[in-house]
Amino acid sequence: MAATPASGRLSAHEIHDEPFYRPVGDEIDIFAAAYASRLPVMLKGPTGCGKTRFVEHMAWRLKRPLITVAAHEDLTAADLAGRFLLAPEGTVWHDGPLTMAVREGAICYLDEIVEARQDTTVVIHPLTDARRALPLEKKGELVQAHPDFQLTISYNPGYQSAVKDLKESTKQRFVAIEFDYPEAGIEAEIVAREAGVSVDLAGTLVDVGLRSRNLRGHGLAEGASTRMLIHAAVLARGGASLEAAVRSAILLPITDERDVRDALGAAIAAGL
Ligand code: ADP
Repeated sequence: MAATPASGRLSAHEIHDEPFYRPVGDEIDIFAAAYASRLPVMLKGPTGCGKTRFVEHMAWRLKRPLITVAAHEDLTAADLAGRFLLAPEGTVWHDGPLTMAVREGAICYLDEIVEARQDTTVVIHPLTDARRALPLEKKGELVQAHPDFQLTISYNPGYQSAVKDLKESTKQRFVAIEFDYPEAGIEAEIVAREAGVSVDLAGTLVDVGLRSRNLRGHGLAEGASTRMLIHAAVLARGGASLEAAVRSAILLPITDERDVRDALGAAIAAGL
């Protein structure tokens, strides 16, 4: 893959060391094929299942800098594109993270895009079709995307509601790759490696994860993520008992409802 070296502004976004990513299916090939044609990609799946790690790994693999923006409900179009700011010499334009990626050829990762307001989301539309351009209306400039620029978004369909969903016209612009928690053996391998614990202990925690995921829809919006299992493993490695680690890393953060927590606690205790 021909990749031009990152310019000064982007050098801080280069990834030099390989981020550990355990492939689960053909996601690496699909992403690489999409990137080869600069198709925009949507990583679809529950929280904490490896989407962010995957895009970091792909940016490293493709030798492109990565600019990540965590979307939230107050994120404005200007936060992405840029704005004029007051300076001693007058007002000066500052590129936002998206504009920087577009100008200089980075992968821009918009994490949890559905959190952003819909009028913010439409800013990306002209970047995701043949135009590959970003209009900076306030500045009166149309920024043509650098040949290496690519847009990736993440989207958790589990949080979807009538008020918070991506517009059809946004969704249909992306190639999607589905993510989910990997099968038990692979997840244990990931937890063991990330937390520095034995595969045995990791396997026990993965079993806890599976039990919690069975309660999805029965009081729990989501089961324990791989991230939570890693946190529990880290606590156990640090000296916490398994019960205490599960309680602090999984049971307490996952729900505020005591009866759901008790039910989950009982389901987990049966397997410990
Ligand atoms: P998401 O972006 O889906 O919310 P992350 O990518 O942050 O989730 O994943 C949470 C953590 O789980 C990561 O920091 C990493 O430690 C671990 N993880 C999950 N899946 C994988 C995987 N396939 N390979 C390596 N690490 C993984």
